[in-house]
Amino acid sequence: MQKAIYFVNKPIAARGMLELTDRSLHFQVFPFDASFGIKSISIDVCSITDVAIELGDLHPRVVVVADKRYEFVLSKGRELYDRLREITKNPLGQKRDGERCSEIACSCGKSASSLYTFCPWCGSKLLPS
Ligand SMILES: [Zn+2]
Repeated sequence: MQKAIYFVNKPIAARGMLELTDRSLHFQVFPFDASFGIKSISIDVCSITDVAIELGDLHPRVVVVADKRYEFVLSKGRELYDRLREITKNPLGQKRDGERCSEIACSCGKSASSLYTFCPWCGSKLLPS
């Protein structure tokens, strides 16, 4: 988590906390700025099509292109940019040699991730369909 500024629309900007997880990029607007009606955002990393970095006067500006264009200014912009580049080059689902996060239906009626060999519910061997 780190402090960042999110440019909603020039010149409107919101301050908040930015966090990048394996699945999404979250921006939690600080309460003071949220009181102006600026909403927190969550961008699914799978939907990110492009990232760019622009060097600013004080901190770098990271441009994230997903369903729309998002701009964040933060001190560790370079680090965020590098991590996002890595993720967009290597989208979820293709991370581990074609291993996909699909589900297998077991004969007991429950389903489990295809990463499992045995059903976590009944213990019988899972057979990929
Ligand atoms: Zn089962």
